[in-house]
Amino acid sequence: MKTEKVINPATGAVLAEVPCADKEDIKRAIAQARRAFDHGPWTKVSLTQRKEYLLKIAQGIMDRAEQLAQLETKNTGKPIKETTFMDIPSSAKTFEYFAHNLERYLKSKRMNLDSGAQSYLFPESRGVVVLIVPWNYPLLIASWKLAQALAAGNTVILKPSSLTALTALELVKIAKEAGLPNGVVNVINAPGATVGSVLCSDSRVDMISFTGSTQTGQEIMRLASSSTKKLIMELGGKSASIILADCDLETAVGGALTSIFLNQGQMCTAMSRILIDKKIFSQFVEQFVEKAKKIKLGNGLDSKTQMGPLISAQQREKVIAYVEQGKKEGAKILCGGKIPQSPELKNGFFFEPTVFGQVDEQMSIFQEEIFGPVVCLSEFSQEEEAQRLANDSNFGLACCIWSSDLERAKNLSRKINAGTIWINTYGMFYNEAPYGGFKQSGFGKELGREGFLEYTRLKHVNLDPSGEKPLVSYWYAFG
Ligand code: NAD
Repeated sequence: MKTEKVINPATGAVLAEVPCADKEDIKRAIAQARRAFDHGPWTKVSLTQRKEYLLKIAQGIMDRAEQLAQLETKNTGKPIKETTFMDIPSSAKTFEYFAHNLERYLKSKRMNLDSGAQSYLFPESRGVVVLIVPWNYPLLIASWKLAQALAAGNTVILKPSSLTALTALELVKIAKEAGLPNGVVNVINAPGATVGSVLCSDSRVDMISFTGSTQTGQEIMRLASSSTKKLIMELGGKSASIILADCDLETAVGGALTSIFLNQGQMCTAMSRILIDKKIFSQFVEQFVEKAKKIKLGNGLDSKTQMGPLISAQQREKVIAYVEQGKKEGAKILCGGKIPQSPELKNGFFFEPTVFGQVDEQMSIFQEEIFGPVVCLSEFSQEEEAQRLANDSNFGLACCIWSSDLERAKNLSRKINAGTIWINTYGMFYNEAPYGGFKQSGFGKELGREGFLEYTRLKHVNLDPSGEKPLVSYWYAFG
């Protein structure tokens, strides 16, 4: 089998070599998942047993938490604090949450209808579900998708990004150790462009849950249309933070920094546009830039590191091209904008935290997803202007509002065209709460009851309990 090298982005060195699937391997994986769903023991497993499998996976993740955190940091470059306290425990908690709630969410519902008829609604498994995961949260997003798909009784084919397959491969091992029947969880490692056409157009696949760029999402929608699959699309973003003049400035500055520089800005929900009330603009900018300059870059394994490298040389090139474009279009760099020069960083794909001032809404850095540590600062005079600027985007993933007037912030949140609004906080994901974007940020939800039910199909059974002859039985009787 062909293999592919996985690179440590902090050092540029080869971290591992992993098998790389070809089109025939994918066809085999689909056949295996199909067989396991149609003929295997999996669909006959009780809900209590299903819950036990999920709890074992959660435990398996926590048993290897330290090793997984190290591996995720080496593979993605993100600081060890992030993987240790966020990615790994959150992954385990998602399995736990859906284990404890699957029975409740899968309950059928009886409806008594006005006519005296009855309806029953049954959430059923969908069948074979393809789970396609990006490189920015390799284990966490794989866990969201796998936990929900399995809790709903599906069989799956997991496709991590080939840049960051290592923790996904560990996750599949953990699922196997939990004793899941053969063929229920399959994994494919390969570049998306090579395998996407087979994986996404095969009529044996019932659903695709995709997280990644809008461009790839559009290609997958095209591929999936020939066999009319259920899709969830969690796509790109260009989210805005709105800093109202009545905010607690220190809290807003700190929150805004995290909302763009966490994970090197490689977050779909990165608040890459910060809209600041004119009354506090200069104070905010001064504090924000001063703090951005102090962010410590380094190898994510060093506990003092606050920001790691970008995922690849190619991703850094893309970010640099945007920075150059921003300069050309007349935006002013307030800090960063360069590859850091210190010798210990020279082999990694590092880039300085970069802050642009004087950004005009027409500029490409204000409109397009950069997916790196680059932020645009703009000012507004009236709340309506902030609302208009925040909504002036093809994307609609998320928004932050910073204000000490919660009623005002809540009112404003209703006018923002985005799937998630955070008020005086950022990046909080809850297993109980659905998450997903509007506009070109996609459709469908992940997490919560609504997200979980995406992985099911709803059957409607209708009956007439009256014992009387219904209208349909004598419709043609008097012809
Ligand atoms: P990407 O679209 O390049 O790749 C995502 C996944 O799709 C990878 O596994 C890749 O191998 C696969 N893929 C690529 N081409 C394919 C094809 N033709 N058919 C099938 N699969 C294919 O995205 P990325 O660079 O890995 O991740 C960054 C993007 O993901 C950003 O745009 C970011 O906003 C988005 N993202 C969105 C969310 C969300 O929840 N909305 C979360 C994380 C990341």
